[in-house]
Amino acid sequence: MKYLRISLSILMLLALLPYSANAYTPIIDPGHGGVDGGAVSSSGVIESALNLDISIKLKYVFLFFGIEPVMVRETDISLHSDGVSGLARQKISDLKNRVKLVNSIENGFLISIHQNSFSDSRYSGAQIFYSDEESKHLAELLQSNIHEQIDTENSRSSKPVDSRVYLFKNVERPAVLVECGFLTNPKELMLLQDSTYQRKLAVAIFSSYIQFTSGNF
Ligand SMILES: [Zn+2]
Repeated sequence: MKYLRISLSILMLLALLPYSANAYTPIIDPGHGGVDGGAVSSSGVIESALNLDISIKLKYVFLFFGIEPVMVRETDISLHSDGVSGLARQKISDLKNRVKLVNSIENGFLISIHQNSFSDSRYSGAQIFYSDEESKHLAELLQSNIHEQIDTENSRSSKPVDSRVYLFKNVERPAVLVECGFLTNPKELMLLQDSTYQRKLAVAIFSSYIQFTSGNF
């Protein structure tokens, strides 16, 4: 409840900011899905399900403020084309279709939601990656809002996305990759499954987006 109250007061303040609704169309991309679950925790928690939970919450925060985002998926599906067989080919087809979808949205701004994992369970904390100079602003805002609103121990900095990431290499829109946390850190894994924490992440993403689009940074 405490988180929810903080989240609501942040949202009330944001409602007062000037928002240029036509500047961008937010595109929410819950990473993976269907045959491609993404990372899996040692206890069997699947990344794609958490990505979707957080993305759906993010969608509803946007809708609450009268902004309709484009959702890349809203159920547990892969976006590979019909007739493509074999996991490797399906993953490639899925990514190609995501690129097509993102590039088809004029003024789209991609927000891709993922979870991290690492061999050493000590590592934790959300980290934001960006595709270009434009998305760098949102990434920096989001990283600092996550520090202030969610996890003051998180001292990570936003970084350019790895140039080998297919989706980011091929989309022709500004894009941020939100790695919400580490499935390999037991404490963070618990938080990431908690709906209040998921809502907090959604609010941090939304509030950063609004600050960014209103030029208030
Ligand atoms: Zn992922």
